[in-house]
Order: sequence, then C-alpha cells, then structure tokens
Amino acid sequence: MTENEIKELFLKTNAFLEGHFLLSSGLHSPYYIQCAKVLQYPFYAEKLCKALIKKIKSHDIDIDVVIGPALGAVIVSYECAYQASKAYSKHIRGIFAERDKQDNDKLKLRRGFEIKPGEKVLVVEDVITTGKSTRETIDLVKVYGGNIVAVASLIDRRPEKLDYFVDNNKDKYPFFTLWKLEIPTYQPENCPLCKEGLPLVKPGSRSIIK
Ligand SMILES: [Zn+2]
Repeated sequence: MTENEIKELFLKTNAFLEGHFLLSSGLHSPYYIQCAKVLQYPFYAEKLCKALIKKIKSHDIDIDVVIGPALGAVIVSYECAYQASKAYSKHIRGIFAERDKQDNDKLKLRRGFEIKPGEKVLVVEDVITTGKSTRETIDLVKVYGGNIVAVASLIDRRPEKLDYFVDNNKDKYPFFTLWKLEIPTYQPENCPLCKEGLPLVKPGSRSIIK
C-alpha cells in the first residue's frame, strides 16, 4: 500500500480529519487522527496490518509474538499476529500490555499472557507520537527476556524521519510504518487557522468551540 492509499482509507473512514482542531494538550492543529475509526472495519484493519507485516517479512525478520500497549494497539497487535501467522505459516501470538492503576500506571502483562526468554517479539502501535508507551512496552518485554526484533506502527508522527526506534536504554531496533505523517501544532495565540477565522472543533464532540 502506498502512503496515498493509506491516507485515502483514513480519510474515507474519518480516521483522518482536516480542519482546525483543539487537541487535549490545548494546542491547535489542522489535522486530527483517530485510528479506531479505520480499525473498526475488519477488512481495513486486515489490509493495513497485512501491508505492515509484508514490509517486516521482506527484511527477513522472524516473529514469535506481537505485543502492543492497550487500548490503542490491541486491534493492531491481534491483526498483525493474524497476518504474520498466515505469512510465516506458524502460530504467532498477539498479546497486549495494560496499565496498572494500583502501581503508578505501569504497563504489565495480565490475563496470563507471557513472553518466554528469547522469544522474537514485534512491538506494535497504532500511532507513534512521542514513543513513550512504545519504550515502556519494550522495557516490559525486556523484563521477560524477550528478544525485540522490530518496532512497527501504522502511523509514525515522530518529527524525525527515522527507520529505527531507540528505547530507554539507547538500544536501537528496526522500525516499520505505513505512513510518516507530520502534524503541525500551534499555540492558540500563534495559530494561523485562528487568524484565518476557521471554526475551532474539539475532536470527538464535533462541536464548534468558536
Ligand atoms: Zn487555532
């Protein structure tokens, strides 16, 4: 899939909105991404994850288990594990890490999920912005002795266009994405969209704020 085909898919499912948005950070932006809107269609989730796995397999990277942080990456982990199981003709597990409110919101494996020492682990995300939860997921995999073979996300919003991902210990992993997307953000007082007089929308509510 080309980046344009990906963008078309996100546009037609309203997973990618163009306009004038108030982000939860208080900043304004001309774009808004909500991956769940495209992933709610299993055929599209399949298409996207199949394309991502194809890229990874073309680099001769083997996988035993796929993991992503809940909630955003649950569907991506499941569907990537399914597509990888078909592509590699073997059982590949799709699991997820969850935050523990009782323990400083730390990411943990629950529900009996486990990673065996030496297992080849693919860490996935729907969107990587700062990469914070991805790095936390990597830390968790390392606790179990998993061997992280690659990091992948449907969308890469990191400002630097990198084909690798660096974890908290400065270890580097091959990185794969379908869409490198820079989303500009503005302080309200310097927002060019405000200056143009475009109505400001709070994503999710679809209500015009001003
Ligand atoms: Zn604005």
